[in-house]
Amino acid sequence: MVADPLRPTSEPWPGMEAVRRLIAQARSIFVLTGAGISAESGVPTFRDAMTGLWERFNPEELASEEAYRRQPELVWEWYLHRRALVAAAHPNPAHHALAALAAQKHVTLVTQNVDGLHQRAGSQHVIELHGNLFANKWLDGCGRCDEASALPGMPPRCHLCGALMRPGVVWFGEDLPRVARFRAEHAAQTSDLCLVVGTSGLVYPAAALPGLAKEHGAPVIVINPLPSALDQTADLVVPAAAGALLPLLWPQPGMEPD
Ligand code: NAD
Repeated sequence: MVADPLRPTSEPWPGMEAVRRLIAQARSIFVLTGAGISAESGVPTFRDAMTGLWERFNPEELASEEAYRRQPELVWEWYLHRRALVAAAHPNPAHHALAALAAQKHVTLVTQNVDGLHQRAGSQHVIELHGNLFANKWLDGCGRCDEASALPGMPPRCHLCGALMRPGVVWFGEDLPRVARFRAEHAAQTSDLCLVVGTSGLVYPAAALPGLAKEHGAPVIVINPLPSALDQTADLVVPAAAGALLPLLWPQPGMEPD
């Protein structure tokens, strides 16, 4: 094989070879991703400083039902801004690498992200714990509200009952969708390896899943360039950016194995 001058020849991150071996040996892999995996696609994480018009807001104060009831126009506009940002973004090598892994292993991909970039990279059956940025639902709907009853506005309202349309994401303080949570917990308990990518590990109950996997015997690998709250649960921490590291961990389509 001709050496690729752009590809590192020795282990660029401590722990990388051990992670490769664990992945190669695993039959079923539980993957938990967070906002960090989309950072290299240009989608800001919540812990990044908010930019432009939004820099004076704290996302935790916008992403809640209470905030929406208080300032629906402001919160709806923030979601429109995020929808536009994500619509213009593209999946990065980390999203593509995880889609490729599912062709080689039994993978359960559980994400806290609402951006749909895993699906756009080709991952199927993604478990979205926090909903999807492009979905809508109703706040205090009458049961007859639907897209056809929506009056355009900021935000749209149901012309039958006046209910507000809201984004179909899970806000701080809300329960996770039951089926998604059940499927994620089941996979955490039954997989033989747990890979955690790009999450601060601060948002529960998602952050409890790696601990659950560990209790059921799965080694836990954390991939994050910065320390995270899940480092103490991890058997191995690789301090790397996901888009740079993940494609080096298992064979990728179109690349010769080395
Ligand atoms: P977070 O913002 O709390 O943490 C992001 C983590 O990613 C940090 O630990 C950071 O060090 C790490 N990171 C940054 N760049 C990285 C890279 N290139 N590779 C790997 N890791 C990297 O995000 P969270 O833990 O997912 O939790 C916050 C909540 O924010 C979630 O509920 C999620 O729904 C929501 N959120 C989602 C998106 C999205 O869908 N893209 C964006 C912002 C926030």
